[in-house]
Amino acid sequence: MEHHLQIYNTRTRRKEDFVPVNPGHVGMYVCGPTVYGDAHLGHARPAITFDLVFRYLRHLGYKVRYVRNITDVGHLEHDADDGEDKIAKKAKLEQLEPMEVAQYYTNRFHQAMEALNVLPPSIEPHASGHIIEQEELVRQILDNGYAYESHGSVYFDIEKYNRDHHYGVLSGRNLEDVINNSRELDGVGEKRNQVDFALWKHAQPEHIMRWPSPWGEGFPGWHCECTAMGRKYLGAHFDIHGGGMDLVFPHHECEIAQAVASQGDEMVKYWMHNNMITINGQKMGKSLGNFITLDQFFTGTHPALAEAYSPMTIRFFILQAHYRSTVDFSNEALAASRRGLERLTEGMAQLGRIEARADGDVTLAWVDELRAKCYAAMDDDFNSPIVISHLFDACRTVNRVADGHAAITPDALEALRGLFRTFVADLLGLRTEAEGNAGREEAFGRAVDLLLDVRQASKANKDWATSDKIRNELTALGFEVKDTKDGATWRLNK
Ligand code: ZN
Repeated sequence: MEHHLQIYNTRTRRKEDFVPVNPGHVGMYVCGPTVYGDAHLGHARPAITFDLVFRYLRHLGYKVRYVRNITDVGHLEHDADDGEDKIAKKAKLEQLEPMEVAQYYTNRFHQAMEALNVLPPSIEPHASGHIIEQEELVRQILDNGYAYESHGSVYFDIEKYNRDHHYGVLSGRNLEDVINNSRELDGVGEKRNQVDFALWKHAQPEHIMRWPSPWGEGFPGWHCECTAMGRKYLGAHFDIHGGGMDLVFPHHECEIAQAVASQGDEMVKYWMHNNMITINGQKMGKSLGNFITLDQFFTGTHPALAEAYSPMTIRFFILQAHYRSTVDFSNEALAASRRGLERLTEGMAQLGRIEARADGDVTLAWVDELRAKCYAAMDDDFNSPIVISHLFDACRTVNRVADGHAAITPDALEALRGLFRTFVADLLGLRTEAEGNAGREEAFGRAVDLLLDVRQASKANKDWATSDKIRNELTALGFEVKDTKDGATWRLNK
């Protein structure tokens, strides 16, 4: 099947045919989380959006290298250069090593992504592991004359850059707007221009995350990591750079400036940005008290939540809107998503049960047309809500067959089952809860069997200490273990 994938490019402000830099290969970089707190709904949207992109590009046969970073240094409070590092602040509060904080929230982030059935990226580089690459980037920009050293820090010279190139190509701003809208008070007396951003920051004595550099001890500015790591893993020119719309300015604008100032041209061919999630019409934010973590959604433990929402309900809720539209969270909207997902799951279960008839009126031609419509929606800038509406239509036909109001031919039934597997499971990444539970229960059962096998082996070796320990610990956990003549059986008393 011929595909004509179009992607909306934030950089050119229009939909463009997707033609990768290297035929058959796709390099994709997505800005990952700053790991100083639990993942919330705002993290789920870019993760699920670019998971859909990753899954679809792979499905089309591309070899995709997907890089999603972990920001564990340099992301400062209030995004101002003199703010405190978010991770260092948390570490001080909790009397932990900064890397302990970063590791803890990285693990929690991975758990949340797993629950949402978000595939892991191909590479997940940490900013703190790429200080040398970032220093190299800063050195190139200095050598090319687009940065200057001041009091142990290095700043990007925006005015100089803007004379030779255009600062603001991504966000559509010009330098004058940027200057007029800037309220930055930090770095006063160090910067030539208030809008210059830090490439390297001198570390104050109390700053715990610091590295040696040609400019003294310090740490990299936040924008450096994505330019340095994107280039390291995807090359000087790669296909897709993604993230939330809130990153367009200043983060991605600064990334473009850094790329041009260091290598002479832009690195990224297609810039993709997902829109934001509001909560009852309001922006999400800690200060607004409407900051709901993913764990709180899954368990229903936040006063704003009417009930717990499963990870698949959250995933479906996000996929029901096109990634460039805004999404407003409310209990009503999530409950509607839960019902929508149930309809789809029931339709799929029904599809597994119905039987075909040779003289059926639902034919292969109908399935082929449906499949073409689903692909057309995906090819149109990953339009998942349209795919879902086609799948709902298909569910209605399945129900008509189940009720005896229509009949489906054998080849159409087989093709329709394949189509649901492709779109629901492989591309939208929706796993039915029962499926997920069955997998977990099977793994759980096998783990207990394995423990009892070890116990059996230790008994055979007269290692009574180990065999008693396994039995006692299992009993303490609520398991009832019964020895039989050829092993043991178990059940879990609830
Ligand atoms: Zn980034």
